[in-house]
Amino acid sequence: TPHLKIEDLHVSIDGKEIIKGFNLEIKGGEIHAIMGPNGTGKSTLASAIMGHPRYEVTSGKVFVDGEDILEMEVDERAKAGLFLAMQYPSEVSGVTNADFLRSSINARREEGDEISLMKFIRKMDEKMAELEMDESFSQRYLNEGFSGGEKKRNEILQMMMIEPKFAILDEIDSGLDIDALKLVSNGVNAMRGNDFGCLIITHYQRLLNYITPDHVHVMMQGRIVKSGGAELAHRLEAEGYDWVKEELGIED
Ligand code: ADP
Ligand code: MG
Ligand code: MG
Repeated sequence: TPHLKIEDLHVSIDGKEIIKGFNLEIKGGEIHAIMGPNGTGKSTLASAIMGHPRYEVTSGKVFVDGEDILEMEVDERAKAGLFLAMQYPSEVSGVTNADFLRSSINARREEGDEISLMKFIRKMDEKMAELEMDESFSQRYLNEGFSGGEKKRNEILQMMMIEPKFAILDEIDSGLDIDALKLVSNGVNAMRGNDFGCLIITHYQRLLNYITPDHVHVMMQGRIVKSGGAELAHRLEAEGYDWVKEELGIED
């Protein structure tokens, strides 16, 4: 089964250290959640793993199936099986959703093993129906004029089409009403299985009512400070983060 290992990761932005010794291991079949106050580096972690040039990894390693992906270019990381649903998906004019998806899938495949147009269309129709997306979305430009909730749903469509080994979902619940939240959660739950591992990044516990994580980690000041099971998310929802700070003697 797939195996993701983040080992003592340190990441800086503009010379300022944001991620300060982050460790995590995710295996296929597992869903992990990272919760934490704003500004603790959750999105920075996601961007650094995916190879965003702004984020400088100063030390540490990230392995996918034993291979250090920090040595890889961005497109190679995707090919290695990583997928990121971004907190703020960007709009791309002139590229339709369908074209983007098809090239995203094929960029992850070997030459000669590209998905056929027929198969692609059938799969896209099926996944869009599951997410209750209007057919017109396939021919609209990528995220252009999409509402916040539509962008999030579109990120999940990408994940379902690409079928990565590991997905990192950054605040996929923000801006979603309850119906959209359920559809997005169903999409993630449908991916569950030994070939798929997931890291859900969220500020609020709400999403975790629909996707039950196997492990919950609290991130503060650039590292994991506490880990537990699904019950930890419920306690954070009820009591906030202050008790964690007190328990661990963390100052703001
Ligand atoms: P979170 O996702 O947990 O809310 P972020 O990773 O977005 O936290 O931000 C962590 C810290 O890094 C914050 O202090 C933020 O201001 C800073 N930061 C994040 N991205 C950038 C960036 N592109 N340029 C400058 N500072 C950044
Ligand atoms: Mg934030
Ligand atoms: Mg964030």
